[in-house]
Amino acid sequence: MQMQSFGAACTVTGSMHLLTLGTKRLLVDCGMFQGGDEMERRNHEDFPFDPNDLDAVILTHAHLDHVGRLPLLVRRGYRGAIHCTAPTAALAETVLIDSARLQVDGYRQDLRHARRQGRPDEETLPPLYEEADVHRTLALLRPHLEFGQTENIAGIKVTPQRAGHILGSAYLVIESPEGRLLMSGDLGNRESGLQMDFTPPPEVDAVVIETTYANRTHRRWDETLTEFRDALRESVRNNGKILIPSFAIERAQVILHTLKQLMDAGEVPRIPVFLDSPMATRATNEYFEFGDELIPPVREALQNGEDPFRPSTLHVVPTSAESQRLNRYDGPAIIMAGNGMMTGGRIQHHLKHHLWKPSTSLIIVSYQSPSSLGGKIVAGADTVRLMGEDIAVRAQVHTIGGFSAHADQDDLLAFLSTAGAGKSPHVWLVHGEVGVMDAFIPVLAQQGLKGDIVPDRQPIDLLGPGFPGGRPPGLVISEMPATGTSDAARAEGGE
Ligand SMILES: [Zn+2]
Repeated sequence: MQMQSFGAACTVTGSMHLLTLGTKRLLVDCGMFQGGDEMERRNHEDFPFDPNDLDAVILTHAHLDHVGRLPLLVRRGYRGAIHCTAPTAALAETVLIDSARLQVDGYRQDLRHARRQGRPDEETLPPLYEEADVHRTLALLRPHLEFGQTENIAGIKVTPQRAGHILGSAYLVIESPEGRLLMSGDLGNRESGLQMDFTPPPEVDAVVIETTYANRTHRRWDETLTEFRDALRESVRNNGKILIPSFAIERAQVILHTLKQLMDAGEVPRIPVFLDSPMATRATNEYFEFGDELIPPVREALQNGEDPFRPSTLHVVPTSAESQRLNRYDGPAIIMAGNGMMTGGRIQHHLKHHLWKPSTSLIIVSYQSPSSLGGKIVAGADTVRLMGEDIAVRAQVHTIGGFSAHADQDDLLAFLSTAGAGKSPHVWLVHGEVGVMDAFIPVLAQQGLKGDIVPDRQPIDLLGPGFPGGRPPGLVISEMPATGTSDAARAEGGE
């Protein structure tokens, strides 16, 4: 039972794990590296295997860092099936088309800049793929996986189970000739505003588990709601615009559902809400479509013929011309726009028009990487560079923790507690910063579990002894705090 990871090994993005089970080769996820030029350059490397040799591809969920290199895999020769749940297939379409468009637009822009600077065209990296590649990829999707139903995939029994992370997200229980393996994908926060809890896993011999927040405890959901409500109330009193930068999948729907609940309960005044993100609008339609897998209040609303993602004052903003017109809209209003870290997208022109006004509120509901525009604002920058201008930061900035869609340390340990009933599975750590994973190893040891950090690209025997101290040879461990509470929900990689 061998695994080789070509992404999300010693890092958070780019999930791609090649399993060799007997004579079969299964690829679990095929995600994109994200977070800066150096990391994103890795997307352009050759696949370290021949795409034609794969027996199947299985997806855990539709975030870009789990599906973003699929069209490249198809471009480089993969013609087999890509197995996933129905919601994952629906969301993957939205995510991949958006990704192709962004890449093509970005390439054209980079090329123009390079030419003006007199640099040769070859220095500009071309897009990884275009929309035509995405359509070829979508044609290979087999959206037949259902939670709890065992499927025979290339002769291997695979059972997807609810992971509770985003719509359609699954972890996989895989029966190999040598033993039973669990691939976690991304696991959900058990205090989510939309997702049901993950299904407790069965006994397995080895677990490959995500560790995004393995060193943290999230703020409680009730505290998060109070914080969000108070920030909204204070902002309404200021009579200005309330900007909420939102990732398009999961976070936007959680915020819409929460706004609807707060307004319906009279906890927050019914001011206009503008959803200014075509991608979030499309994703919200999928949440509506597949809402019966979400928490009971959402299901009940759907059964009563209501839309749980539609506050009564919601306006959807389809075109960028209408988005621009919002700049002249008078009076208080909530504007939700992407992208979540404010590094691009429609949120930028809203920031340019409103960030300098003390009456504006910027409510941050997701993780901001320190190098992003949002990160600079959170760090207290006086001015920021936006669309070629220096803009003063005079808005009230509220940072709300607790909206994370990822499991925290308590969630991960609860998950592992049933996987280990009777015997202790070997725990392999992926999808985390090295320091975070290293700090998690002794925590696992206290539970009687052997934890090992999965090395980048190096083949490992999932039933083997692992590494001394859980550290692959040559690994450099960075300093990381071992405990703490996340101040802002971390970016769900892929958004
Ligand atoms: Zn994810």
